[in-house]
Amino acid sequence: MQLLKKALPIVILTFFHFCSIAQKLIPPPIIQESWSLDYEPFRIAGNLYYVGTYDLASYLIVTSNGNILINTGLPGSDSLIRKHIEALGFKFSDIKILLATHTHYDHVGAMAAIKKMTGAKIIVHEKDAPLLADGGNSDYAFGGNGSTFLQVKADRLLHHDQDTVRLGDMQIVVLHHPGHTKGACSFLFNVKDSIRTYRVLVANMPTILDQTKFPGMPTYPDVGKDYAYTFGAMRNIQFDIWVASHASQFGLHKKHRAGDAYDPKVFIDQKGYDTLLDELKQAYLKKIAGN
Ligand SMILES: [Zn+2]
Ligand SMILES: [Zn+2]
Repeated sequence: MQLLKKALPIVILTFFHFCSIAQKLIPPPIIQESWSLDYEPFRIAGNLYYVGTYDLASYLIVTSNGNILINTGLPGSDSLIRKHIEALGFKFSDIKILLATHTHYDHVGAMAAIKKMTGAKIIVHEKDAPLLADGGNSDYAFGGNGSTFLQVKADRLLHHDQDTVRLGDMQIVVLHHPGHTKGACSFLFNVKDSIRTYRVLVANMPTILDQTKFPGMPTYPDVGKDYAYTFGAMRNIQFDIWVASHASQFGLHKKHRAGDAYDPKVFIDQKGYDTLLDELKQAYLKKIAGN
């Protein structure tokens, strides 16, 4: 009896401790099969590599002082991303900085796991930091029912459009492109191979969720204004190569097939970028007119 009285609080404490570590997750609103399918990693241009799944893009930027990983796929994608990075001959533990185009479960799902394994610093826009910290529960469109991915705190917040992230010989300009999430960002930087330098845009294309209501909603009063700003800002970016958060958005599988030789030129595609941006703007105008 005496023993039980002592043991009970320990059991209860251990249970709650376990619960706080495990962080109960709710199922995400949508999951597509192509989001977790494996895909052969490859060199896109210079020191930029594709290490994501078939459709959820993750980008490795190799620098003179460790590496940068942009986007981490779904919860559980960490093992595939690790396999891809190692298959290319790089060390997983060399990831020093983690970035995200936006903090939805399909792009930051494995952020907590990869941070834990590598000790990398997470850098996000201040307006996406609350989502990362509560596992997506404060998202204006998907939030309110619980966490869809493991909660993790950012180490550095970006406050302005065109803030810079530096590591080794790399400088990444972060472009704030709000709308899809409040802190969504695109990344602009130069990569080099033995022949030339390429200006690369990792674009967060302003796709519109069914849940989004224009001109504003209680959870995001300025959503219409922010989309309008982002369409204007994205029209004026100068780049040689563009890629995006989802492989399907920039036509990866039409431009590159598994086993293809290194050929950065296939990603030079201003027309594809302009066409998609036009289509999304038309969808935005149609939706705003209908409200
Ligand atoms: Zn999203
Ligand atoms: Zn997505």
